[in-house]
Amino acid sequence: MSFKDELQKLRASFDTDLATVSGDDELEVLRVKYLGRKSGLQDLMRLLKDMTNDERKDAGQAANEVKKAIESAFDLTTTELERARLENLATEEAIDISLPGIAPPVGHLHMTTTAIREIEGIFARLGFTRVRHPEVEWEWYAFETLRVGPDHPARDNWETFFIDAPADDKKGKMVLTPHTTNGDVREMERGDLPIRMMNINKTYRRQSDVSHVPMFHQFEGLLIDEGVTITDLKGLFEHFAKEYFGADREIRLRPHHFRFTEPSFEVDISCGLCHGKGCRMCKDGWVELGGAGMLHPDVLKAGGVDPEKYGGLAFGWGLERTVSMRAGLNISDLRTMYSNDVRFLQQF
Ligand SMILES: [Zn+2]
Repeated sequence: MSFKDELQKLRASFDTDLATVSGDDELEVLRVKYLGRKSGLQDLMRLLKDMTNDERKDAGQAANEVKKAIESAFDLTTTELERARLENLATEEAIDISLPGIAPPVGHLHMTTTAIREIEGIFARLGFTRVRHPEVEWEWYAFETLRVGPDHPARDNWETFFIDAPADDKKGKMVLTPHTTNGDVREMERGDLPIRMMNINKTYRRQSDVSHVPMFHQFEGLLIDEGVTITDLKGLFEHFAKEYFGADREIRLRPHHFRFTEPSFEVDISCGLCHGKGCRMCKDGWVELGGAGMLHPDVLKAGGVDPEKYGGLAFGWGLERTVSMRAGLNISDLRTMYSNDVRFLQQF
């Protein structure tokens, strides 16, 4: 068989093989077979060196043509295989962008935090500035300056968690504060009059049952200025009740007794269900909101404020109770608010 016939046979064999290729791996096997160092084409090329010059020129040209034809066939097939792969990709790995996505879980602020911000805002619009006073407090500020001496029975309920720290001769032992009223005298001691203070903080008492959590929040308002009267107190609560609970709510003051205020009141708000008519929830149309009163002159004196010149009023309420009252919640166990159960918390 002549050199050119061998070339033709090789070329024909390549075309047959190429027609069966369906993927990159098969194509690579074919490349080794027809263009590799041990390929039939290389065997033929090696014959060239034994030819005469004229024969070699002619045969070499023919062999190169076949080699180029094979190479370009490989290039073309490679391109076609890639195109086919991309076409399949469009159908096999298609993404339907019109399908609704899977929403990641999104959290929100705890109901207590939301309420703190809201209440802070309501009083800020009346000129009250939110301040911070210690949660870990001397007995002096938590009790003594508020006219609750060491032997006063009210202390039984309030004496809470004592801190294992050295006592102070004047200020006594350290406790976790049982109420936000501890900030009142501290605020007066700053000596910056008049005062419009809002103290919202964690408070602690040794009670844990369905209506008490050992750690809870209170918000305490303190207003000290010349000529402060009960009228101011009533106006503040009316404003708060309507802002926080709704314009249709009314308040009333009921005489009460607190050590650090004189006179003292319990503040009630008209029931949201029966609007003051009386129902199963409220019995007489009113629900209790919290305590308030005009600061006792001794408390003003303890803070270095002249009771002859200045008058003061203070009010303090449990935040959790206020929150659950507005939501119309009848939480069977107040501790649920802090049990970190998302099923409960995500509702608010
Ligand atoms: Zn009612």
